[in-house]
Amino acid sequence: MIYTVDESQVRAALFVWLEKESGRNGGIFTREQLLNGFTVGEERIALVGPRGIWKPKQFVKIPISFTTFINGPYPDRVEDDGLVSYHYQGDDPNNTDNVGLRQAMLEHIPLAYFLCPSKNSYTAYWPAYIVGDSPGDATFKADLKSLYNFDSIGDEARGVGEADRNYRVTTMRQRLHQAAFRVRVLAAYDSNCTICHLRHAELLDGAHIIPDGKPHGEPVVPNGLSLCKIHHAAFDSNMLGINPDYIIQVRGDVLKEHDGPMLKHGLQELHGQKIILPKHKSDWPDRERLEWRHEEFKKAG
Ligand SMILES: [Zn+2]
Repeated sequence: MIYTVDESQVRAALFVWLEKESGRNGGIFTREQLLNGFTVGEERIALVGPRGIWKPKQFVKIPISFTTFINGPYPDRVEDDGLVSYHYQGDDPNNTDNVGLRQAMLEHIPLAYFLCPSKNSYTAYWPAYIVGDSPGDATFKADLKSLYNFDSIGDEARGVGEADRNYRVTTMRQRLHQAAFRVRVLAAYDSNCTICHLRHAELLDGAHIIPDGKPHGEPVVPNGLSLCKIHHAAFDSNMLGINPDYIIQVRGDVLKEHDGPMLKHGLQELHGQKIILPKHKSDWPDRERLEWRHEEFKKAG
């Protein structure tokens, strides 16, 4: 069967589609959605496949996407030069998938990069360019341009100083870690705000119980809460807290205020209610972390 798609048009259409869909789904794609992909003309283009490097059947040799599946708490490594290491499919540099990805590098073809930190939930970065190939350690290097707002990480010609470059690389690592954490937390809570039940991923954050950087503040699901933007801000500023028995507590002065419906229904009426807990007990918020955090809340009251 001969397909007649213009690959560069499909790639351009893909980036538009990713932009539009991530506005709708809060940046979290399900595997099913990516398997179904999108339609160009008569053709349905699948965006992921059985392996990390994926070339849809309509394309000749260059892939459309590459995916990292992460088991540990942190995604693929961001190296000191700001590029993401991506391991070959297997170890053979001449494997078809690896040859395809290398060709994307040689032709400077933009791809989509998916990060899958939790079964069935993906985040997307685009355009992603393969800019390096090290057969010695069986890895490619990828430049994820949407992870930073600067033109090029390793560009000495632009006079980027070492301190500045370190700052950029740190920022990129944090963004990737944060994205992976959010995907996992939202997946655990089935994309509900644990406080108000709001089910719109585009309005939901993965919030830390113990802040990042403090002891036990790791980006793991038992240190996370799926919170809508309002309740995340209210939790961080101690307008409300959650005690170790999973009960919502609204700060005393806020309970006494008189104002409109947001204050009444969105905060005051939640006092004394129980949060929504994840389906799996291993994902439940850790009581000791809640206790530590609740002490901070009480100090604020
Ligand atoms: Zn909420």
